[in-house]
Amino acid sequence: MIYADNAATTRMSDAAVKTLTSLLSDTYGNPSSLYEFGQKAKEVLEQARRDVADAIGAQPNEIIFTSGGSEADNQAILSAAKMGEGRGKKHIISTAFEHHAVLHTLNKLKKEGFEITLLDVHENGLVTARQVEEAIREDTCLVTIMYANNEIGTIQPIREIGEVCRKHNVTFHTDAVQAVGHIRVNVVDDNIDMLSASGHKFHGPKGVGFLYVKKGIRIFNLIEGGAQEKGRRAGTENVPGIASMATALKESVGNLDGYKAKLLPIRDRIIKGISEIPHSALNGDAVSRVPSNINFCFEGIEGESLLLLLDDKGIAASSGSACTSGSLDPSHVLLAIGRVHDVAHGSLRLSIGEDITEEDADYIVKSVKEVVEYLRGFSPVWRDLVNGKKDFIL
Ligand SMILES: *Cc1c(COP(=O)(O)O)cnc(C)c1O
Repeated sequence: MIYADNAATTRMSDAAVKTLTSLLSDTYGNPSSLYEFGQKAKEVLEQARRDVADAIGAQPNEIIFTSGGSEADNQAILSAAKMGEGRGKKHIISTAFEHHAVLHTLNKLKKEGFEITLLDVHENGLVTARQVEEAIREDTCLVTIMYANNEIGTIQPIREIGEVCRKHNVTFHTDAVQAVGHIRVNVVDDNIDMLSASGHKFHGPKGVGFLYVKKGIRIFNLIEGGAQEKGRRAGTENVPGIASMATALKESVGNLDGYKAKLLPIRDRIIKGISEIPHSALNGDAVSRVPSNINFCFEGIEGESLLLLLDDKGIAASSGSACTSGSLDPSHVLLAIGRVHDVAHGSLRLSIGEDITEEDADYIVKSVKEVVEYLRGFSPVWRDLVNGKKDFIL
């Protein structure tokens, strides 16, 4: 089996599993308790906070542990909106291809009277700092733009966007769930005010993540209760999960150069191989892209059938179509970069991990070629394209 769906979730690293399991049985105290059991857990928690802060260039008191990336996104956006509202500022800037944790939160705010500007994404999967600057108004209270896109892997010019936000005194949040642990992220150099990350996207456990909030930025809690996380996130801390996430992050960030050196040539080998398929196209910029991501559209086929047949060949991949909603809507990300519905339906995302070999890469290319050809063999859409009844787009 080849697991090529690391953008959905990653396998926990051995070290992260070890941290988690040993803490589950040994350090079960409540970090808020004053006796030794509690204080030991508290030490573990605060060490994890230092490690997580170090990994992104932050200070430990700027890290709030959450239940994952979605919670961090919600808290950052709803907080900035509430702050903005208090000052009569109800305009937010984002992009059309954010994760649903961001888009759905913005939709909620829209219903509450906020005005949301979703920037158009260029066909290479990038937005520019200039677009952000042009969209900023007197009443803009927040810019929220993802660091790396979860479907097409494109890396946004976060540093420049952050600079523009600083210049205009607008709070800047980035959903960095697909970036942290995969490429170098430094909240100071990148001019970031708030950043979301998630453990299970960098070989840590599921259900744990963090929100970075720059000192001086006010934050409201989503969950009422105890005074944990300095009153910014109630609920007894998931100490084993948090420490395990910190272990995974430290490991990933310590190995960013090795990760890139290993993955880039393999990623580009797969991209080159799949590009040989006629009427196919790479989605997203080939250069400003995380080392793990490969995303293609193929004309004349359905992404779902492609996935099922690849699964038969032992390859776990993903398609852009969101069949979860029951309607087979094509991916909002692919539509945002200008792919038309028919083309967006035939998409494939491969997100590779460090355990991949060159042989795996060649097997993936060979399998994708076979499956695409097979599916086109009985696709009525493909027949129309070949017979000239419809025009090729790709
Ligand atoms: C996975 C993901 C999330 C959600 O993170 P969870 O920890 O699963 O809640 C948010 N944003 C992006 C870009 C993601 O890839």
